[in-house]
Amino acid sequence: MDIADDLPMHAWLKLSDAEQWDILLSYLTPEQRDRQLYGHCKQGHALTPQNSYPRPNGTRMCKLCHKERDRIRNANRDTD
Ligand SMILES: [Zn+2]
Repeated sequence: MDIADDLPMHAWLKLSDAEQWDILLSYLTPEQRDRQLYGHCKQGHALTPQNSYPRPNGTRMCKLCHKERDRIRNANRDTD
């Protein structure tokens, strides 16, 4: 399963979240789909389609962790 073979990253990034999910889920077996929809990130946040970004390699990025990284980056910038 590698969406990147069929869809280059620049094309992937033009799609909406919902479109990315449709494509991502169409590449998965039912078992993989369950794992995708009900997993957790490294920090223990529930990973649902609503709070994660799908990636073309079949993994997901946690929106909460992403936001937290941004917050830390912005905080560091303020103290410069
Ligand atoms: Zn997280």
